[in-house]
Formats: sequence, C-alpha cells, structure tokens
Amino acid sequence: MHISFFAAFLLNLLACNLDKTFQNGVPPQSQATADTTKYVPTEPEDTLNVEKIAKTRIDSNSKVIYLTFDDGPLAFTPFLTDIVHEKQIKMSEFAVGLHALMNKSFMKHLDAMKRSPYIEVCNHSYSHAYGKYQVYYSKPDVAAQEIIDNETKLGLLTKIVRMPGRDIWATDSIKRGWSQSGGKTAEILYKAGFKIYGWDMEWDHYGNTLPKRTPAQIVSLIDGMFARNETQIKNHLVFLGHDEMLAKEKGRQDLRQIIDMLKERGYIFEFISNYPY
Ligand SMILES: [Zn+2]
Repeated sequence: MHISFFAAFLLNLLACNLDKTFQNGVPPQSQATADTTKYVPTEPEDTLNVEKIAKTRIDSNSKVIYLTFDDGPLAFTPFLTDIVHEKQIKMSEFAVGLHALMNKSFMKHLDAMKRSPYIEVCNHSYSHAYGKYQVYYSKPDVAAQEIIDNETKLGLLTKIVRMPGRDIWATDSIKRGWSQSGGKTAEILYKAGFKIYGWDMEWDHYGNTLPKRTPAQIVSLIDGMFARNETQIKNHLVFLGHDEMLAKEKGRQDLRQIIDMLKERGYIFEFISNYPY
C-alpha cells in the first residue's frame, strides 16, 4: 500500500531533473526550496479551484468508478494530468502537503490539477506520517490536526481525506477499518465534518513504479468485483493508484489501456466527492 512511501520520496528527489523533459509547458525548476511553512500558489486561488465537470447522471444499472491517485504532487504528476485530459475522464488526487511545498515545480503540478476541470484535489495529510504510521496515529488528535492544517496549507475545498497508510472509511453510512491504528484519527476527522475514503481495489505494483498485472487483468478484476458485488457499495468502485506509477512509460501505457477498456465497457468515471455514501 504505502509502505514504499519513503522510497518514493527519495525517488522523487532524484527525479526532480526529470521535470526538464516535460513537454506540457511546465517550466523546469531544479531548485529544491523546502519552504514548509507556507503554501504560495502560482496564481490566485480563485483561478486555480475552477469549476469541475458536472456530475454524471446515473441510474440503477450504472457502474461507477472513482479513479483516485495518491501521494502527489510528485515529479511524475504531470503525466497523470496529461492522461486524464487526453481521456477526458474525472479523477481525484489525494495530495500530500509536504510534496507540494518541497519543490516549486511540484507545487506547479498541484496547481495544474486544481486548475483542471477533470481533477479534484483532496487531502492525504501534510507529512504522510513520514512513513511511520504507528507513531503518527498514536496521537490521534495531533494527527487529525495535521490533516486539517493540510487542507488550509493546500487551499483544498473538498473536505475529503484518505488516511496515509490506512484503508479506513468514515462517512454517514460507512464505518470501516476503525479498529486499526488511525481509526481514532478518522473518527475525529469525521466528527469535524470530513469524509474519509479508503479503496475497493488497488492498481498494485512492484517497487514503486512497475504494475504487477496487465491492463487486461486489472479490467477483468474490476469486471469481477462489479459482477460479484464485492465493492463496499454495490455498483460503486473506488480505484486506488499512485502518482509514482506514472514514472515509467510502462505505467503510462498501462493506464491509458486500462482507461480505454473501462470506457469501452460503459463504466462511468466520477469524482470521489460524488460518491453517494
Ligand atoms: Zn499514500
């Protein structure tokens, strides 16, 4: 799940120079600024948090996929943004404040997502627990406050959280995973007005970047979960990916194929903020 977080962190520091090769208009920034005190957007917030694509009409036969990606913004995040734009589907990014603040180019990557009508940005904590989940969650109030503060630091509008390192759900009708460490933090956040979403299936990977399964296998798994009603809520599937999966061309190719196959099947892509439970 998120065990490889620190490896990803280091990988991204090394990969800062990758930015120079991006073709999407993001200017190269190789200076790591590490200003961890204040989020300064590249332009006024009201031009960033643009109106998102309207909710898709669904009926009792609709099958809805909530494409969610975690741990951005990272050096590879623009690849994800580009694919979402190319395929014109809705996606939700669960962002880590520390990543946005450690490098100006990463901050621009986050701003590009906020500016996209196809992407909504949600909260994945400020520090991602620095990879030490037991320690982080041993002080539930402190962890909850850190996550609440991340909302302010990143100028997030959604009040939707994914707990770092934990598959925990907390909504009006779903309480799942509360017995593990992090459960108390989730409860505090829920009572403070947040919704917390885990996932139904993960786009799993070797190391940080290489997909374990072929696109056909992933899509077959999704078909099966819908058919056997194995999702948290019938006909609604939360798909978890990680921005680092886009680091290599293989991951980018696979994601394009997965999306194309899911579209062919008539699945609807929706923002996690439109998850109805
Ligand atoms: Zn994560």
